[in-house]
Amino acid sequence: MSGFAASLRARLAELESASLLRRPKVVASPAGPYMEIGGRRVLCLCSNNYLGLASDPRLVDALKDGASLYGGGSGAAWLISGTNEVHVRAESALANWVGLPSSLLFSTGYAANVGALQALVGKGDLIISDALNHASLIDGCRLSGATVRIVPHNNPEAVRSCLREERAKSRVALVVTETVFSMDGDIADLASLRAICDEHDAGLYVDEAHALGVLGHEGAGACQMFHVKPDVLVGTLGKAFGLSGAFVAGASEVRTLLENRSRSYVFSTAQPPLLAHATLVALELVRAADDARACLKTHSKRLREGLRAAGLVVADGETPIIPVTLGQPDVAVRLSDALLREGVFVQAIRPPTVPAGTSRLRVVPIAAHSVDDIEMALAAFSRVAP
Ligand SMILES: *Cc1c(COP(=O)(O)O)cnc(C)c1O
Repeated sequence: MSGFAASLRARLAELESASLLRRPKVVASPAGPYMEIGGRRVLCLCSNNYLGLASDPRLVDALKDGASLYGGGSGAAWLISGTNEVHVRAESALANWVGLPSSLLFSTGYAANVGALQALVGKGDLIISDALNHASLIDGCRLSGATVRIVPHNNPEAVRSCLREERAKSRVALVVTETVFSMDGDIADLASLRAICDEHDAGLYVDEAHALGVLGHEGAGACQMFHVKPDVLVGTLGKAFGLSGAFVAGASEVRTLLENRSRSYVFSTAQPPLLAHATLVALELVRAADDARACLKTHSKRLREGLRAAGLVVADGETPIIPVTLGQPDVAVRLSDALLREGVFVQAIRPPTVPAGTSRLRVVPIAAHSVDDIEMALAAFSRVAP
C-alpha cells in the first residue's frame, strides 16, 4: 500500500474506533413521515422537512410544470446566462415575505453563508460569531479574513462586551447568529442583539434556516416573530420548503455586492430555474400552512414530555428541534441503532457537528406525522432508552 493510502486507512480507523465514522443510511423513498431504509418502512424523526412539503403532490406538480416550462439545468453561472426571469420573481417574493427590500438566490445554504460572509466583510473588519453557529457560518467567517471573535452561546451581554472592547479597532462590525439553532433548537435573543448592534454601529446577520416556515406570521421566521429587522437574513429552501437552494436578503446594496463579490455565487452554475418556479409555489404553501405549524407544535410538546417520561435528558424549547443529550458518541450511536431496529429512524449527532461530550439524538417531528406516529415513537423510546 502507498503511504498516502495507508494514511487514509489509519485516519478512518481512528474515526471508527472513536465512534465518529459516519455512513449515510440510504433511503429508497421520498422524504416523508415514513421512509424506506434497508427494505423496511421506518418512522423518520430526523429530517428538516418540517411541513412535510418535500413529498407534497402540489410541490411535485410544480416541479413537473417547472421542468416543462424551463427544462433541466440553467446552463451557466448566474452572471453569464444562467439567471432566468423566474429566479428574479422568486427573489422578490422571498424578500417581500421576510420583510426586506431584496434577495439573491444561491444553490445551497452552505454556499450562501460562505459566499455572503466572504463578500460582506474582510481584513480590518470584525465578526462576532455565536459559539454554536453552523459550520457554513464558521467557514464563511474564516474565509472572510475578518477578525473573528467567538462569543458564548446565546449570550447578548458577551456580544456587548466584545463590541465595547473591539469595535473601535475595526472598520465594520457584524454580529452573526442563527435564529433557531440547528442542533439545540433554542432561539437567539434577537431583540437584545438588535439593540446592542445599534448601540455599537454593528450589522446583524441572521441565519433563519430552521425558523422559516416554522415560526412567525405566515412562517416568515423568528425575526418577524420578534419584530426585529436584521441587516442580512439567510434562508434555506431545503428545509421547510421541501426543495433545495437558499437566499440572502437585505438592502439592495447587499444584493448587488453579493452578486459581484460572492465567489460561491459568481463561480457557480445558477440553480435550475424549475426550482425557482417550485419555490414560488412552495412559498404560497408555506405561508398558508398555519394548521401544519400548529400540528408541529403539538407533536413537539408531546415528544418533549414523553421523552422526559422515558428518563431522557431533553432541553426545554419551543421549536421542533428536540435534542436528547447522551454525552459520548458510542452511546448516541447505540441508541440510534436500537431505535432503528424498533422501526424509528433518529440519527446520532456527534462531533464535529456538536461539541465533544454533547453527542445526542436530534429528534424532529414533521407536520405530516400523525398523533399515533408520535405515540409509536415514544413507545419505542421507552423500550430502548438507557
Ligand atoms: C442546513 C443549514 C445550512 C445549510 O443549508 P443547505 O441548503 O443545506 O446547504 C445553513 N445554516 C444552517 C443553520 C443550517 O441548518
